[in-house]
Amino acid sequence: MATDAKRPKIDDEKCVLEPLKNFLLWCDSVKLTLSDKVYLSKEGTAAEYGMMAREDIEEGHVLFSIPREILLHHGTTKVKKVLEEGKKSLESASGWVPLLLGLLYEYTCPQSYWKPYLSLWPDFRTLDQPMFWSEEERDKLLKGTGIPEAVQTDLKKLQDEYNNIALPFMKSHPDLWDTEKHTLELYKSLVAFVMAYSFQEPVEDEDEEEEKEPNPPMMVPMADMLNHVSKHNANLEYTPECLKMVSVRHIEKGEEVFNTYGQMANWQLLHMYGFAEPFPTNSNDTADIQMSSVYKAAVQAAQSEADQRLLVDKWNMLCEMEIVGEKGVFIFGQSGSLTYSELYTTLKVLCMPLQDFEEFCENEGWEEDEEGEEDDKMEQALSFAGLKGLPAEWKCLLHAAAALTLDSYSEDVEADRKRLEDQDALAELSSRERRALHVRYAQKSILQRLQQLTK
Ligand code: SAM
Repeated sequence: MATDAKRPKIDDEKCVLEPLKNFLLWCDSVKLTLSDKVYLSKEGTAAEYGMMAREDIEEGHVLFSIPREILLHHGTTKVKKVLEEGKKSLESASGWVPLLLGLLYEYTCPQSYWKPYLSLWPDFRTLDQPMFWSEEERDKLLKGTGIPEAVQTDLKKLQDEYNNIALPFMKSHPDLWDTEKHTLELYKSLVAFVMAYSFQEPVEDEDEEEEKEPNPPMMVPMADMLNHVSKHNANLEYTPECLKMVSVRHIEKGEEVFNTYGQMANWQLLHMYGFAEPFPTNSNDTADIQMSSVYKAAVQAAQSEADQRLLVDKWNMLCEMEIVGEKGVFIFGQSGSLTYSELYTTLKVLCMPLQDFEEFCENEGWEEDEEGEEDDKMEQALSFAGLKGLPAEWKCLLHAAAALTLDSYSEDVEADRKRLEDQDALAELSSRERRALHVRYAQKSILQRLQQLTK
């Protein structure tokens, strides 16, 4: 009979899933230690596999600990030697190609060290990020959210990286890769897997001056079995020997153990992970306003051609100072602007009289006493609590920019609100329609709040 220590850590009454059992046996064999207070299950979880509390868990409890040797990345895969030799030729914009080549190999190798881990996802059928939706579906359901544009960029990048980097490399190593098997389609599924399941170890910032390259992504068995919520109860800690999932508050028996994938707005969750937190539960939700929409709003409000010309000069100046960019966005969270420094300066410059602007240009920026308005002051002024106190002209610009942004969605906020409030209508929606609705409405409600406060 299995002793308590050897007992497989699964919900054995309810769960008889072979892949999960195999994975847990493998975890035991590779010294991945799992607390007796938790178990893996598909029941009671937010989505598919997840981790549940078998009993009450105190804050600071180590739920599991993963030896570094079992992490799957470019430096641990069986093909690490050729990846190292070809390092230069594998450099890319995403930085993901070495991991993806390692995954192509390990995922299709019956003898892979990580077979029991990777077999948990035999076909990646559960991945449903918008990159798997049709273009029409994305446009219909997600127009205005920023996701269709982000997906277009991803798709182009992954195709380019497969065709121009991964494919030639695989062809030059036919003993390790078979291009009939390691197709663009499998590559795309693995990109989605990396998007939704990988981890990036934070870079130690000993020297704040020197911006370090981010660490490449890696697969972390067991840690990636945890689902995410904004009000999470566990967090991954990195130590030189191992990675530990630690509870960050008391967890009740029967509760799901939730990790955090970071401070993610709903549009980011849907884009990268394929789900959204039901409105209004995501405390990290945000809405973007294109920087160019604030400029557009100013141009629309200009009284004369001279004012319009002045705005062109002001905008060019802001671009030169790198305060704004053609593709940049101002971000609003639950309590106001998160990019308050850029927004404050933009509003101030766009609304300043000609004479002040001339002085501003002569000085190449603010006078010394004005330089770098206090951070706190700008944050407070552009918080939802502070907006009412802004100069009328600034409020008008924000109001008009929010309206322009709201117009960019295919449907108005009221139609979405009605859908969300009508439980029967909500139940009729497909899973994609429902997730998209939670993303759209979360953004629109922030923009609407901004409009109301700048009336
Ligand atoms: N549930 C996953 C599984 O069964 O493989 C394990 C977590 S994996 C790191 C991330 C994926 O889990 C996401 O892409 C999403 O499909 C799902 N997920 C995570 N948190 C979720 C949540 N709160 N609601 C719905 N799905 C979630």
